[in-house]
Amino acid sequence: MNRVYNFSAGPATLPEEVLEQASKEMLNYGGTGMSVMEMSHRSKAFDNIIKTAEQDLRDIMEIPDNYKVLFLQGGASLQFAMIPLNLMTDKKKVLMMNTGAWSKKAIAEAKKFGEVVVKASSEESTFNYIPDVDSLDFSEEADYVYITSNNTIYGTRFTKLPEVGDKPLVADMSSNILSEKINVSDYGIIFAGAQKNIGPAGVTIVIIREDLIGKADDSVPTMLNYKTHEKSDSLFNTPPTYSIYIAGLVFKWIKEKGGITAMEKINIEKANILYNYLDESELFSGTAEVKDRSLMNIPFILPTDELNAQFIKEAETKGFVNLKGHRSVGGMRASIYNSMPTEGVEKLVAFMKEFETANKN
Ligand SMILES: *Cc1c(COP(=O)(O)O)cnc(C)c1O
Repeated sequence: MNRVYNFSAGPATLPEEVLEQASKEMLNYGGTGMSVMEMSHRSKAFDNIIKTAEQDLRDIMEIPDNYKVLFLQGGASLQFAMIPLNLMTDKKKVLMMNTGAWSKKAIAEAKKFGEVVVKASSEESTFNYIPDVDSLDFSEEADYVYITSNNTIYGTRFTKLPEVGDKPLVADMSSNILSEKINVSDYGIIFAGAQKNIGPAGVTIVIIREDLIGKADDSVPTMLNYKTHEKSDSLFNTPPTYSIYIAGLVFKWIKEKGGITAMEKINIEKANILYNYLDESELFSGTAEVKDRSLMNIPFILPTDELNAQFIKEAETKGFVNLKGHRSVGGMRASIYNSMPTEGVEKLVAFMKEFETANKN
């Protein structure tokens, strides 16, 4: 069996151990005589799957008891609307940071529901840095403050949070949840589409402080009200059962590997292998500002479009796939989520060195 090193930004590579276990359980899950895909979401077996997944996530992220974990659908993108619908209820105002394409989409959506104050933006330099939050004043009245904690396309991340006082901080962690230790109680809402660092597409994790549930107006559609999903333990309607099952296996895998502390240590080592080479190379260069570099998504470029195209093509023949960068940045992007083994990054860098030797003049 030939597996490639898949550097896709999402849907992304999953741990081989998880895929193997899922394949073993494909036809007959836990003696039920059926696949998880075929079982009722109200069955005992599935109840156990979703409850165990939630508990494992609570354990690895150390989620306090006054936070609810919801398994929703609609992707991270639906949260761009659900968050203002549920939270922009008092001041009808939100303070947002514009640090990339996903922030921009969240800003555009929030504007449909109230006033958006964009506190800072790095758009003028293709979002290659995070504006300094310490020099910004977040004291004005607003229902909440919003950030994208890791910018998947540009390879930047917040290494420091804004001082928001008692306003809830909402974070889109789609591409860095579970990658490094965070303090859940610093946030009002943490949300993430699963397909980057959690599991298959289809499930969106929302971690929400209890007091932020139940604020939505009665006119808000039932499915878009957090209260609906909180009351029914994410079983108001049929949830994405198979995605939740795989996400649960990934949470167990993280636990067995030593939890998020262990993930973070490996992620720092992994990212440094690539960053150190980008810094010493005379041919390749990283595009994000050093102080804001992501541990998960690493964009880099060669001096010409021709070399970029040649590199991507040659890399693919060696089994390093999905390295093409987002069109807004160009060049390459290596997404190295928790499931990317260190060996994958080491081998990629070895190949980049060969490429440099062959192509420098
Ligand atoms: C991928 C991504 C999204 C969009 O996720 P969907 O689940 O496709 O809606 C939003 N935010 C960030 C940071 C992302 O990386």
